[in-house]
Amino acid sequence: MKFIQTRGFDANKAEKVTFSEAILSPIASFGGLYVPEELPELGEEFLNKHLNSSYKELAKDMLSRFEIDIDGAVIDEALNLYDKFDDASNPVPVVKVKENLYISELYHGPTRAFKDMALQPFGVVLSSIAQRLNENYLILAATSGDTGPAALETFKNRANVKVACMYPDGGTSDVQRLQMVTEDAKNLKVIGIHGVFDDAQNALKRLLASESFKEALAQKDTKLSAANSVNFGRIIFQIIYHIHSYLELVRQNGITMGEKVYLNVPSGNFGNALGGYYAWKMGLPVAKIIISSNENNVLTKLIRDGKYDIRDCAVVGTTSPAMDILKSSNVERVLYDLFGTQRTKELMFDLEEQNFYKLTSEELDKLRESFDADFCNGDEGKKYIKEIFEGYHYLMDPHTATCMKSYETCSNPEIKTIAYSTAEWTKFSPVIANALTGEKDAQDIQALESISKVAGLEIPTMIRRLFSKEIAQKTIIEKENIESEILKFL
Ligand SMILES: *Cc1c(COP(=O)(O)O)cnc(C)c1O
Repeated sequence: MKFIQTRGFDANKAEKVTFSEAILSPIASFGGLYVPEELPELGEEFLNKHLNSSYKELAKDMLSRFEIDIDGAVIDEALNLYDKFDDASNPVPVVKVKENLYISELYHGPTRAFKDMALQPFGVVLSSIAQRLNENYLILAATSGDTGPAALETFKNRANVKVACMYPDGGTSDVQRLQMVTEDAKNLKVIGIHGVFDDAQNALKRLLASESFKEALAQKDTKLSAANSVNFGRIIFQIIYHIHSYLELVRQNGITMGEKVYLNVPSGNFGNALGGYYAWKMGLPVAKIIISSNENNVLTKLIRDGKYDIRDCAVVGTTSPAMDILKSSNVERVLYDLFGTQRTKELMFDLEEQNFYKLTSEELDKLRESFDADFCNGDEGKKYIKEIFEGYHYLMDPHTATCMKSYETCSNPEIKTIAYSTAEWTKFSPVIANALTGEKDAQDIQALESISKVAGLEIPTMIRRLFSKEIAQKTIIEKENIESEILKFL
């Protein structure tokens, strides 16, 4: 299968590229994104066939339908990484919380957040392409907390790939910071920056666009790539768990085959939601995809009013920081799917130039056939964490909690909901401890202990060990010095 481009193509780029090419340079003509030329149709036959398959069997068959230019043996190696999740036989447990609400837990991987679902296999795939081409790649990552640890973990000691990961010093949780700075491998460089996440993100964008930086890398026989969430190499692995979660509901007798469900997704850059949308297009019975946001509620407004409006808007810090985002990049792929190339280009140019676009009322109707949305603020989120823990003995993190508001406001109770849990309680423990016990300003380690006591849960070993592990990555610099620091590392 070939990949085409959301904003059409200019003379500098081929009209269509392979999967490998779309992975290595994910930015398409006019700043657009790559999308599959067509989505494979799976339908009910596929679902029936995989009713009793393992996660890996399901994944392998789904990926094979895309006919990508990656060897079967590489795909196998990539999917084998799900064996390192808590339960190798079921890497994504789906838990019934109450009569019509199920939670699909996407956080059972090595860094305890959902980024592992895609980044774990992606690391193997990217490294194998680099080896095949006999090229060396520098992966740049800027993180507010979850992508960094997941990217470092997946590329650690992989051939032909180095990673430079920038984070705002003081802008992540203790657990997230420790997950990064305790990573000790020759091909990894972690750089703390005096500043906020936007400083790290802007530095990354500047370097990705800099010709002089690329030349300096070329002298070191290295090419530049990024592992951000617009990369289709990540998206493709995010279709699988939506299908898996649906089949789990059938297996648990929560639904009968063919019954439609809501997919309720805590959203930031829209990769997770897009995976669900593609699964639906490929034949999964879905009633609607419900987009949950925090106070940074641009997506709620888009889906309710048809306006993407970030004029005079600044990101606000919330208790669900992985969703603190204004430009939600993967929305573009939905626009393309619904409205085509010309209109997508127009809308995205409006957004880039005026920080604003507006859909026509017909377009909005079309968008709303697939999506609904609501947002949940931090206090509401904490209330849901406490209520659901006390009422149903289910502990959720602040990102997952945003789904509970839209579950109440956007769903018909007759239709079952699969809500996605994107982080383990251990990653955002101070907020959860505050929700459960009222304690304030706890350090991560204290909050972990108190949740562990209140909820009767053990702190996972990989989290506990972080606090006594040696700090391997000690660089903390001014943002002006990032480029020279990275070149020094290479
Ligand atoms: C990245 C992330 C999200 C947002 O996912 P998108 O695919 O970017 O919408 C939500 N929750 C957590 C914990 C995350 O790490």
